[in-house]
Amino acid sequence: MTENKHWGVQVPATPIECRNLVAGHWISPETEWLDVESPYTAQTVGRVALSTVREVDAVVAGAKAAASDWARTPLKERTALLFRYRELVLKHLDDLSNRAALEAGKTVAEARAGVLKGVEVIEYALSLQNDLGGAQEVSRGVTCEVRREPLGVVAGITPFNFPAMVPMWLYPIAVTMGNCFVHKPSEKVPLTAVRMAELMVEAGFPAGVYSVVNGGRAAVEALVDHPDVKAYGFVGSSNVAKAVYARATSLGKRALCLGGAKNHLIVVPDADPAVTVDGVVGSFTGCAGQRCMAASLMVAVGEVDRLVDAIIERAKRLELGREMGAIIDRAALERLNKAIARAESDGAKLRLDGRGIKAPTEYPDGYWLGPTVIDHATPGQECTEAELFGPVLTIVRVKTLDEALELEAKSPYGNATSVFTTRGAVARYVAERATTGMIGVNIGVPVPREPFSFGGTKASRFGQGDITGSGGVELWTSLKKITTKWALQPDQNWMS
Ligand code: NAD
Repeated sequence: MTENKHWGVQVPATPIECRNLVAGHWISPETEWLDVESPYTAQTVGRVALSTVREVDAVVAGAKAAASDWARTPLKERTALLFRYRELVLKHLDDLSNRAALEAGKTVAEARAGVLKGVEVIEYALSLQNDLGGAQEVSRGVTCEVRREPLGVVAGITPFNFPAMVPMWLYPIAVTMGNCFVHKPSEKVPLTAVRMAELMVEAGFPAGVYSVVNGGRAAVEALVDHPDVKAYGFVGSSNVAKAVYARATSLGKRALCLGGAKNHLIVVPDADPAVTVDGVVGSFTGCAGQRCMAASLMVAVGEVDRLVDAIIERAKRLELGREMGAIIDRAALERLNKAIARAESDGAKLRLDGRGIKAPTEYPDGYWLGPTVIDHATPGQECTEAELFGPVLTIVRVKTLDEALELEAKSPYGNATSVFTTRGAVARYVAERATTGMIGVNIGVPVPREPFSFGGTKASRFGQGDITGSGGVELWTSLKKITTKWALQPDQNWMS
């Protein structure tokens, strides 16, 4: 990556080819390539294999061939390779961050933070060697031992909005626990996935332990239907999450599928202005609102006009490109523009309109939408209910905290709820009653840091448990209990 050295992303001189990684070899597609566009330039920056059923079969066969040896490789040896991988990720942090920014439209700083958040999961996985297992004398002369056993070949299917971080929620724990992992990245962001896979190979993971199968829906369905793939971690939109979950579990397989969100930020009059403005603006404009933990709906309790004005003033001043990234593609931009128009025609008040905003001079052809604030929206409107997935903050006015919580509880989604207040009692009231999986107190994006695990409720999650932390260990392993008695001791029985 050499050309175009602005403050922003570096564009590759020629498009990067994203092949499949099959049993340690990079294989070109037998039928079709798809162009990969950068949201910054609307130009082709790569091309990605669109895998067929046969190609998925080849990837899984490569993984299956490696599964038995990898499962028998001691945890300490597996961990040593992951440690080497962590070093390589940090060594190539700039390259990975640039790729993620280039293909997903993030600012480079956001992309970098995403990679580093992924590294935290790697570090969690590295710590497992000191934490797992255990044996106990359960009765005289009888020992019970638990073993976490890998499942074999497992797969991760990931979305466009975090090209490095979301895959890293999955594979560090899966491979450390002895599985062979097949990654199906979003076809919109395969460049980062390919680079991560190159580094997994460089770290020394045996062929087949880590594989990549590129493609879209057909590849996902072939992967889910494949009898040799035993479990799935999926992250993406709720409709697809639900469909993948249903398909996998109907075949008796294990799946944890995270979906979309509509996160509520409850702001009360005693909220600290600086903390609130920072938290709310950072949350709805960060990653241009394209994250499952973004503030989407602000529930303004009582008289908070001054806070709303300050939020709008701050959002207005954000510099596109440098402080806020682009929208993933033209279709998403058009969808957002229409949703903003509908919010207005449905009776809400458009306080800040990011449509048609002037693009940064370096990237005149990119897909840009400025921060947008829709005030006085009402329940039942699209902007109040649906995940818009852009830098759009909808504000609903309510009179009481209970009304705010009622609104929150009615949302079909369940990722995050935040409350902005200076009163501990209010914070606790909301934290105990909110219906989502992750709660923020004066935090706009309440993503738990390791070792605390990530996971929502309701239509933001299909399946059980969380996807990182101990949830990841549960997802990618089965628990075997071995009860042992060696000496023949006639005076003892199983219960003695
Ligand atoms: P998406 O659902 O379109 O795609 C996700 C993955 O599924 C991709 O790999 C894609 O190729 C595949 N896919 C798409 N359509 C499919 C179909 N019909 N059948 C099978 N597979 C299909 O999601 P996206 O647009 O890439 O990502 C944005 C969405 O992801 C948002 O809804 C966001 O909230 C959600 N997300 C959720 C979390 C979370 O932790 N809950 C995290 C990140 C993103």
